[in-house]
Amino acid sequence: MSPRVTEECIGCGLCAELCPDVFELGDDGMAYVKEDASCEDAGCCEEAADSCPTDAIELD
Ligand code: SF4
Repeated sequence: MSPRVTEECIGCGLCAELCPDVFELGDDGMAYVKEDASCEDAGCCEEAADSCPTDAIELD
């Protein structure tokens, strides 16, 4: 499963709070997937995706 943050992100920070092993906020205030992040290991990608207010997180 490889997560992706789309341009719908408004930088609320919720994903980074719920799933800090995978998501982080960049210098521009938008969310990014951390390098080499693994949803399988973190186990919180789906919760982050479900909680995102703009549905900006896609899980393939
Ligand atoms: Fe962006 Fe959604 Fe993460 Fe909020 S939860 S920072 S809108 S991707």
